[in-house]
Amino acid sequence: MSPQLQAKIPVAVLGATGMVGQRFIELLQGHPWFDLVGLAASERHNGRPYSEATIWRLSSDMPAAVAALPVVGCRPDALPGVKIVFSALPAEIAGEIELEFARAGVAVFSNAKNHRMAPDVPLLIPEVNPDHIAAIVEQRKQQETVGCIVTNANCCATPLVMALKPLQEAFGLRKVLVTTLQAISGAGYPGVPSYDILDNVIPYIGGEEEKLERETRKMLGSWEKGQGFTDAPIVVSAHCNRVATREGHLECISVELGRETSPEEIIATWTNYEPESQRLKLPSAPEHALLYRYEADRPQTLRDRDAGDGMTVTIGRLRNCPLLGYKFVILGHNTIRGAAGGSILNAELCVSKGLI
Ligand code: NAP
Repeated sequence: MSPQLQAKIPVAVLGATGMVGQRFIELLQGHPWFDLVGLAASERHNGRPYSEATIWRLSSDMPAAVAALPVVGCRPDALPGVKIVFSALPAEIAGEIELEFARAGVAVFSNAKNHRMAPDVPLLIPEVNPDHIAAIVEQRKQQETVGCIVTNANCCATPLVMALKPLQEAFGLRKVLVTTLQAISGAGYPGVPSYDILDNVIPYIGGEEEKLERETRKMLGSWEKGQGFTDAPIVVSAHCNRVATREGHLECISVELGRETSPEEIIATWTNYEPESQRLKLPSAPEHALLYRYEADRPQTLRDRDAGDGMTVTIGRLRNCPLLGYKFVILGHNTIRGAAGGSILNAELCVSKGLI
């Protein structure tokens, strides 16, 4: 256990019956700092045990510790004593519910898009912009609460920004062109009907391209006390496609860097990247945030999505791009690194910095 913790912190999952909610439950089992004591979803479950309220859809077994927990409504008074909630709620309802928990003094770690671009809410990836957590202090002052809202990014923006950050630091970054091939689990359960996605690629995911473009600029931008967030001056253009894979988002990326470099130097920059979450040895930080694979045909969705227990972003196929300079391919696990695992890592960073 972390030296600053006397006892585990009681936590709950909102949207516990969904795709991301189930990942939270799986990843929180045996967590050294967090004790999963509450599960919430819509009121229709009415306190029924989790094993009756949900159909478990992950390959692992439903953890015995949660089977008998009642599924309560997403209200602070239904989850007394909880210090942190991990929100896997749909955007249609997440905004107000998350605010309600924050006002009640709870630290909310959200996967929904609602508060991501708010001027006092960190859109956080510990490997990319750990300094943005300073916004929490301002947020608490504004909202007059000890609670807070911290968001993680869109599930494609997360691996994208993780691969770009070391390049931005080392060489400067001017332009990014990204084309995604996104798994169906990104649409929740049951997601895209099989009749629409089997034997098919759908070149449209509502709102996704805009999210990828603006969230990337916010995360690669800066936070200054008194000034707030300033977007990075990078041109980002995204094409988003839904493909018939179950988990793992693949992204084909071209970049224009700020100065001349070599492929060897770029790969070394990724390989030697040691961000703060790894230096702090946060419990959910993978040994390697980024893994470069030299095989000509990697990364592949099926083979690489579970790298670092789903928390490592795999990169490969670095080569010259006649349009922008360099191009490469990345892969990130959407429900782990791009959702539940990323949120838990955010909470660990905040605990390690004494903010919770
Ligand atoms: P999902 O499978 O559809 O699950 C939605 C969850 O929200 C379920 O637990 C559902 O519970 C609950 N819910 C629905 N309506 C509710 C209401 N009125 N009140 C309280 N709870 C309600 O969705 P998901 O894929 O897990 O996504 C959850 C969030 O994470 C979304 O905001 C999504 O955009 C974001 N996200 C998803 C991914 C991904 O890869 N899937 C990645 C990053 C971010 P019931 O059993 O009560 O219906």
